[in-house]
Amino acid sequence: MGEKKEILQCPCGRWIESPSDYKLMFLKKLDMEIDILCPNDACYLKELGCITFKIENGKLVWKEAKFYPPYVTWNYSQLGKEKAEKIMREHLKKIVTERVEWEKVKEETLKAIESHYGKKEEKKKEE
Ligand SMILES: [Zn+2]
Repeated sequence: MGEKKEILQCPCGRWIESPSDYKLMFLKKLDMEIDILCPNDACYLKELGCITFKIENGKLVWKEAKFYPPYVTWNYSQLGKEKAEKIMREHLKKIVTERVEWEKVKEETLKAIESHYGKKEEKKKEE
């Protein structure tokens, strides 16, 4: 059996030891969603979770960070729900607070909104 590793694992087999292991991808700019990806390029799941945010009065407001069910349930079954939940919460917190470059995300989002909807959108912020 061997000792039980208290680290997360992607269902593809890749161990994820720290929040810096994930790859972050910000493509869904208009959806205001940042993807959290498995570090394994050959992973069949790829997307392990996401971070969502919104822009309010020109300010970026973080909404939610979560992992998707395949990753969550796999780790529940490996580590037990309590332990896995605790580690995953820590990972999400670190990703949100330390890894995401929010200033850059905000800039890119505003740019995407502007080029998609035109500058009129900016006036809508006064509700
Ligand atoms: Zn994977």
